[in-house]
Amino acid sequence: MKGLVYKSTGSWYKVRSHKGNFIVCRLKGKLRIKGLKVTNPVSVGDIVEIEMEKGKETGLISKIDTRKNYLIRKSVNLSKQYHIIASNIDQAVLVATVTQPNTLNEFIDRFLVSVTAYNIPAVILVNKLDVYEDEHLNRLADWNSIYTNAGYTILPISVEKEINLDKVKKLFKGKTTVLSGNSGVGKSSLLKKLLPNEEIAVKEISEMHQQGVHTTTFAEMYDLPNGGHLIDTPGIRGIGVVDIEPKELSNYFPEFLKLKPFCKFNNCVHINEPNCAVKKALDEGEIALSRYNSYLSIFNNDQEENYR
Ligand code: GDP
Ligand code: ZN
Repeated sequence: MKGLVYKSTGSWYKVRSHKGNFIVCRLKGKLRIKGLKVTNPVSVGDIVEIEMEKGKETGLISKIDTRKNYLIRKSVNLSKQYHIIASNIDQAVLVATVTQPNTLNEFIDRFLVSVTAYNIPAVILVNKLDVYEDEHLNRLADWNSIYTNAGYTILPISVEKEINLDKVKKLFKGKTTVLSGNSGVGKSSLLKKLLPNEEIAVKEISEMHQQGVHTTTFAEMYDLPNGGHLIDTPGIRGIGVVDIEPKELSNYFPEFLKLKPFCKFNNCVHINEPNCAVKKALDEGEIALSRYNSYLSIFNNDQEENYR
């Protein structure tokens, strides 16, 4: 019987069967995924084949369907292993704030590079609009033009004052959305608003944040009341950039990619080459300096920890 994985806690999986009931499952033997060294063979969002254990209420996962896509990050301690955050995703949403806390541009850009590299549409929700003063609104306007120009969706919201939440609901309807963001930006508050029937689960998540020790907590999927799924990623502050070749990096900055055909060299990395269309656009203010600086930092493999 087919099922959809809603949660994994290492050895146990919460799977919704095609009949609609939840079944606690284990893996049947060792499931291996070709070509990818992962710490978790099954992730939230996976479609799996399950068999009921004889005489029990529990099930066994015997097969994982081919994934449409997935997001991964490097495992915290095992640098050559990966952790699959979630699979079969329609869009990735980053909750950011101009103030309380101040989300760094580079943090946003690293998020965008990773999801863009996996071909997953990205949305930035800028929360706490209700407390923004002039300087914050200026920065919001900058973000708005930078990220709209780059081809991403950006929407200012206030979870507390319920500004633009109808648009958020529309954006999420019928889709599987991964929600990400630094702690303090209002991600749990947003979940609570969108999932009025999941109070207990959301409370658990915010308690985890306060403890701050659950660095390897697993993602969990929730059903949205009007169709679609939300995947929360507690403890995963950034999706991060994993294994992108420096020479390919500019492909994941859409506004750079558009200009690449106009660079003199077809393998231009837009740093020291002459007649580079990206550098020219930067000089002319058509490409944002913050985007270019993020590009350089990721290109030079600067440590991600500095930008959280
Ligand atoms: P999380 O760490 O991202 O899950 O953030 P929380 O949902 O726990 O929110 C962090 C703090 O920001 C809490 O004190 C919330 O009450 C507050 N907060 C959340 N949304 C808003 C908002 O739209 N406006 C304001 N002013 N505060 C908010
Ligand atoms: Zn170039």
